[in-house]
Amino acid sequence: MPIEREQLEADVLIIGAGPAGLACALHLANLIEKHTEAKKSPELSTENVYVLEKAREVGAHQLSGAIMDPVALRELVPDFEKTAPLDSPVTDDAVYYLTEGKSIKAPITPAPFQNHGNYIVSLNRMVKWLGQLVEKKGVNLFTEFAGRELIYENDGIAGVITDDKGVDKNGKPKDNFTPGYELRAKVTVLAEGSRGSLTKDMVNRLKLHGLNPQTYGIGVKELWEVQPGRVAPGFVAHTLGWPIGTEMYGGSWIYGLKENRVSIGTVIALEYHNPLFDPHAAFQKFKTHPWVRNMLDGGKMIRYGAKTVPYGGWYSMPRTFVDGALIVGDSASLLNSQRLKGIHTAIKSGMLAAETIYEGLCAGDTSARTLSAYPQKIEQSWIKKELWAVRNFHQSFHGGFWNGMIQSGIQFVTGGRGLVDPMPGYAGYKQYDQLHRDGTLVDQSTRFKGDGKLTFDRLTDVYHSGTRHDENQPCHLIVLEPDICSNRCVHEFGNPCQYFCPAAVYEMEMHDGTPKLKINASNCVHCKTCDIADPYQIINWVPPEGGGGPNYSAM
Ligand SMILES: Cc1cc2nc3c(=O)[nH]c(=O)nc-3n(C[C@H](O)[C@H](O)[C@H](O)COP(=O)(O)OP(=O)(O)OC[C@H]3O[C@@H](n4cnc5c(N)ncnc54)[C@H](O)[C@@H]3O)c2cc1C
Repeated sequence: MPIEREQLEADVLIIGAGPAGLACALHLANLIEKHTEAKKSPELSTENVYVLEKAREVGAHQLSGAIMDPVALRELVPDFEKTAPLDSPVTDDAVYYLTEGKSIKAPITPAPFQNHGNYIVSLNRMVKWLGQLVEKKGVNLFTEFAGRELIYENDGIAGVITDDKGVDKNGKPKDNFTPGYELRAKVTVLAEGSRGSLTKDMVNRLKLHGLNPQTYGIGVKELWEVQPGRVAPGFVAHTLGWPIGTEMYGGSWIYGLKENRVSIGTVIALEYHNPLFDPHAAFQKFKTHPWVRNMLDGGKMIRYGAKTVPYGGWYSMPRTFVDGALIVGDSASLLNSQRLKGIHTAIKSGMLAAETIYEGLCAGDTSARTLSAYPQKIEQSWIKKELWAVRNFHQSFHGGFWNGMIQSGIQFVTGGRGLVDPMPGYAGYKQYDQLHRDGTLVDQSTRFKGDGKLTFDRLTDVYHSGTRHDENQPCHLIVLEPDICSNRCVHEFGNPCQYFCPAAVYEMEMHDGTPKLKINASNCVHCKTCDIADPYQIINWVPPEGGGGPNYSAM
């Protein structure tokens, strides 16, 4: 029986309260305010703008380095320095090449790593602050609500269906069952961040793919409280080399925050060849480098998290508009992978979407014809200038680190063109080497365990992510063909889900002589790595009941 749902109508519905979604809401609210003050018609109200966020509170699913280039925030909130929770301005930035025992400082910090003028921030706090500004404008911001399904109408989007609440693990309604809402809107803005579940569905269904397939990185991060004097606030170090080596694309960071806190993490492209490579273990190993250990010794890990980043850039950008919908921020592939920065482009894209939507609402036309002004605005903005200069950057590392360094040098002097333009990109999940195993499960007893002080196993880290889900709900990690895990993946790739997941969600177990997949869905930190990196593309990540997931306070 179809579920009867309450219907609500809005002018604008924004899915995701990250930098992109909130910037869109705030800028639109400012435009509506001015419109109302000038007594223009049609009548518009900020109360008809809705923002949905799946986290238990705004910012709880925000994880980033994070060094923020303030260029876009200055446009959105010109006096942001007075009230924004900026942690420290960057005072000292450097790049280091690590060997197993040594750290070699680059004599000059390459331009993409120069951060003077930028701020180290907790994205969780920044986004909370933005959320408060949005709510003050009268916009309806609903946390604990996930956009579960888009409403498709005539090749366009008419809104979204939110998650049903109170369904048990067998799909049966519990006593507290509340059906999701049918939220209809003139414009739906997809601001879901990296690998958005609705965005993925819409891009596939309406064939909106960019020139290149999207490629991703996985970032694994901890927040530490260190001994006084070890890492100064404003200190920024980016490292290359050990322990990742030069066959893979990736590196690590150490950022000094106020009150002796340190953001430390590793980010690695999900396009490596060894299916048994473990990004979480690589990050743990990084902390054992003498130079890093010296900073952390005697300190305490206080928070953990993991999240993916879209690396593909300009040539992986999907079509960003259809009838009744726009895509913004990371979901639209607007991150600058050379700088590992996407907060500023996310904010700017949200603002450009808001301007387009405002024009559409005034004209009474929110069809693709009017909304096509959005990509044109991106083209004319500094987003295009910045991303165009690095349009071939990530692809050039396909042939290895040194090849990438040479190619990106040539791109630098040719304004991003390089030797081949456009340079093709490749889906990361197709890059695994086959293992040709005999069908037995890979021994897990030798997995990285950590010493419990400097290094940690995945379960200890997950505990520090504050992750919480109601256990009695349908599994939100949908394995479309589970037999493949037992019959093919065991032989071909040794079940890489056990390795790439930074939250120990996936385990293979023997049952009556047959390998079976066990899913610990309640550990899931919503990084989306499984949806991206599964070699057969049979894992479909959908949002669990709203409010579930990590709690990245102060991250
Ligand atoms: C490890 C790491 C380090 C980084 N370092 C930096 C850095 O130093 N500087 C920098 O500028 N950028 C950095 N970035 C990138 C930056 O964090 C992103 O570019 C930026 O957050 C993108 O903003 P967004 O609003 O598009 O998406 P997000 O910030 O991901 O926000 C999306 C929001 O939508 C919500 N959501 C998703 N799907 C749904 C749904 N279906 N229903 C309801 N809600 C939903 C999510 O819970 C989330 O709150 C880093 C990223 C990572 C992972």
